[in-house]
Amino acid sequence: MAGYRYGGADFVEPKPRITPKPRKPRSVVVCGTTSGYDRHVRNKEASCEECRAAVRAYRKDLRARTQKPPEVVKLPTKPKVKRHRGKTAACGTNSGYEAHTRYQDGICQPCRDAHNAYMRAYKTKWRAARKAA
Ligand SMILES: [Zn+2]
Ligand SMILES: [Zn+2]
Repeated sequence: MAGYRYGGADFVEPKPRITPKPRKPRSVVVCGTTSGYDRHVRNKEASCEECRAAVRAYRKDLRARTQKPPEVVKLPTKPKVKRHRGKTAACGTNSGYEAHTRYQDGICQPCRDAHNAYMRAYKTKWRAARKAA
């Protein structure tokens, strides 16, 4: 920096930086923090309300973080109509028979009976309708 004329006449003084007043050097611990609380304990003095509140908040936060997250409350939703086999149509009904044919898993006797009864009823109805026409 040779030749640099410091403090020349036309040297514009930069805005003086306001240096924060060093308060209690080496003691970055301030009240209202958990460290502040620790300091009280270390100094065997009564903790102030600010520090106690900080510790309370800290512990609460810690608990909240260490605890299992609250289970997501499932909102009651309309049950989806699942088109999976069997359960939609009970056996022993024509729907059950149709389910069997749809899924080709072998038609059971109750369904067969139900289907036969259904067909009989259907045919009777159909014949009656034809006769009436
Ligand atoms: Zn304190
Ligand atoms: Zn069946």
